[in-house]
Amino acid sequence: MKRSILACALILLSCILLSGACALADPEWMYPVSLETLRDPQDVLRLVNRDHLLDASYPDQDIEMYRLVDVTLPVTKGSHCLRQVAHDALAELFAAAERAGYSLYVGSSYRNYRTQEVIHYNRVKRMGYDDGYSQIAGASEHQMGLAADVVSWAYKDSFQESFGETLEGIWLRENCANYGFILRYPQEKEQITGVQYEPWHLRYVGREAALYMTLNDLTLEEFTEEYQAALSRYERELEAGQAQREASVSL
Ligand SMILES: [Zn+2]
Repeated sequence: MKRSILACALILLSCILLSGACALADPEWMYPVSLETLRDPQDVLRLVNRDHLLDASYPDQDIEMYRLVDVTLPVTKGSHCLRQVAHDALAELFAAAERAGYSLYVGSSYRNYRTQEVIHYNRVKRMGYDDGYSQIAGASEHQMGLAADVVSWAYKDSFQESFGETLEGIWLRENCANYGFILRYPQEKEQITGVQYEPWHLRYVGREAALYMTLNDLTLEEFTEEYQAALSRYERELEAGQAQREASVSL
């Protein structure tokens, strides 16, 4: 009899402890992109546009992960550089394109703040107005070292929307996410990105984020808003859990 009372008491105690442990456990991460990706230790998800400008000193060349390396892939002309992480991914993309029978070329890549300033000034002067094809200084992803304009040889001298309907352009759109890139300025999203359709402009964001954005038809603007809301919710839940833990400790 005594033994069974003791057993019951032990079971009851375990239940109380277990229910306490459950209540104090960290919240579950439910968003379909991993926390590790979204916390972005490599700074590859940074949103850059007219509302989110880079300062003139970005990317800091004293910091290893921001360091620019020479592009060793086929180019339309001149010399180019990118951040290592984007260069490695682009090399894989070019190799896959080659296997599929397509030859791709880097038409532009890293561009510093000052160069962007000059390009924008010249474009506006030539057109007589700002047609949205050239970003103001600080708003260009090319300054990040994570963006490359990629075309076929036929488009080497002039990037045009019709590139998106060529075999190379279609292959790029359908496959770039597998290598961590998104078409940053897609068709029919001009209102959101603030930039005209550019079937040649690839932005490195990492494979997981690129696949998610592509599958869900999200621009970087839309994705950023969505995941930051998920992160804030999660952090609020973490804080609430922490407060609950502290309260139970002080009991
Ligand atoms: Zn571009």
